[in-house]
Amino acid sequence: MNLETDSTATFPAKPVETVYTSSKVVACEGDHSALGHPQIFLRLKNGQVTCPYCSKLFVYKPSEAN
Ligand SMILES: [Zn+2]
Repeated sequence: MNLETDSTATFPAKPVETVYTSSKVVACEGDHSALGHPQIFLRLKNGQVTCPYCSKLFVYKPSEAN
């Protein structure tokens, strides 16, 4: 079988992944799939930021104290 899927870019309707972080700056390099991209650093604004490459949403969430 031929599983190549590059020239025909489909628009995945998958929901945006949300990642919670306790840092105001996050590094994103996508996933280990077709959504991978060069690593970039994103600064959270108003507690969140969306990766322009993979649309992953990072939400600020302080580490919970025990
Ligand atoms: Zn990303």
